[in-house]
Amino acid sequence: METVHLHETCSRQRRALQPEDGSTFRMYVCGPTVYGPAHIGNFRTFIFFDVLYRTLRAAGYDVNYVRNITDVDDKTIRGAQAEGTALADFTRRWTERFHADCAALNLLPPAAEPAATAHIAEQIRLVETLVAKGHAYAAGDGSVYFDVSSFADYGKLAHIDTKALRTQNETSGGGRNLADEYERDAVADFALWKAHKPEDGPVSWDSPWGRGRPGWHLECSAMSMAYLGETFDLHGGGEDLCFPHHENEIAQSEGATGKPFVRHWVHAVHLLVEGRKMSKSFGNFFTAGDLFEKGHPPEVVRYALLSGHYRQQLNFTFNGLDAARSALARLEKADRRLAATWPGGEEAWRAFVTAEPAAGDPCGCFADAWDALREDLNTPATFGAIFKALPALSAEAPAEADFPGFRKLMYALGLRPWLLRKDDAEPTEAPAGITALAEERWAAKKARDFSRADALRAELAEAGWNVLDAKDGYTLRKKD
Ligand code: AMP
Ligand code: ZN
Repeated sequence: METVHLHETCSRQRRALQPEDGSTFRMYVCGPTVYGPAHIGNFRTFIFFDVLYRTLRAAGYDVNYVRNITDVDDKTIRGAQAEGTALADFTRRWTERFHADCAALNLLPPAAEPAATAHIAEQIRLVETLVAKGHAYAAGDGSVYFDVSSFADYGKLAHIDTKALRTQNETSGGGRNLADEYERDAVADFALWKAHKPEDGPVSWDSPWGRGRPGWHLECSAMSMAYLGETFDLHGGGEDLCFPHHENEIAQSEGATGKPFVRHWVHAVHLLVEGRKMSKSFGNFFTAGDLFEKGHPPEVVRYALLSGHYRQQLNFTFNGLDAARSALARLEKADRRLAATWPGGEEAWRAFVTAEPAAGDPCGCFADAWDALREDLNTPATFGAIFKALPALSAEAPAEADFPGFRKLMYALGLRPWLLRKDDAEPTEAPAGITALAEERWAAKKARDFSRADALRAELAEAGWNVLDAKDGYTLRKKD
């Protein structure tokens, strides 16, 4: 296993990641609320965790990665009702859309993707435990609340001085909070179980406290512990989840088990778009699909979302997308160079470069890039080191270790620059005679006259042109 360091939110320190049980690294990431298409801010966070997952795997870790689906909360219920659709049908549709976007953006599927509505029993059991241990109480409104004053460590993750805040809440009449999301200065007892309200329509489950539904924070405590154990290695999400969501998760989980809940907390800083907070009212709100429709391929969107460090605010701009496209074109050129020099030929190279790297693979000229990635997932430094290595790669014959090195970096970053070969790396206009030869070669290939096709390829190469075949056509490229 190669070491991966990552900043930890609670201690504010950079730490080496280690599986507690010495073998499997157990990580949980808060997944999407499926009430509409995920936006590029959501994807910044999900892609960051995908790169963490990939980097750990490439570094030789065995990883158990769980990312949930929030399919019951205020937003999903409101969305389903506005449409007159059953909640389950509504959330299924948005879950499918999320999966399609993830596939386009090349996110690896997690090992498990539990949905909140499929784990109601576990959530009720957790509330029962908290009531039994004196951390929660049923209020007169049929809801059950977590008693924040019963948990001495409340505020440790978000570094909040709850004593100061409690005084403020008392004077401002604060007390209990039914909302799923609220601000730091609203520290208050929060709902574990919400009594059924008429606005919830048909959405409710039986519980020892009457019909109702779980509060949002509860699902992640119940499901993460069900899938990963009472103490696990890493938990993450976007920075907005640090408080109250993750603070409440700690209170619920540690209150119930008396054990440390999570060994390493990670939060990704939010995205700005063209310098402003993303918002429909500013006209700068984009889903992944919006960008694909504008002609920005998923590879380019992914690269742009990785161009900033996860602990810094990333300003997503259309100029940034253009820069990402140029950067990928350079990676595509490097891929062609490696393909041309790979001993087994181009097809064998494609099979090699698209396979998962083996633990301990060497990195060759990409060693600095790999080190930068393992050092707090510093993606801009990683890209910098890759581009520093490229001129040498094209000037000299690649060293043996450069091939697995390139594969390891592309895998860990989840980039497939070769997919852009046809549409994106600008082809040079070929003279008519060359095009004619290429057309003749393509026709011969189609007719399965491979010796003729090879002879024509050699003739084109002689004249200084390479032919790159794809499934349904070819591209001509002037030799470097
Ligand atoms: P949600 O679907 O609202 O539950 O959010 C899914 C994930 O996206 C959470 O980890 C959020 O913290 C994260 N997120 C939401 N907005 C942004 C943003 N503008 N930039 C980065 N991450 C975000
Ligand atoms: Zn969560």
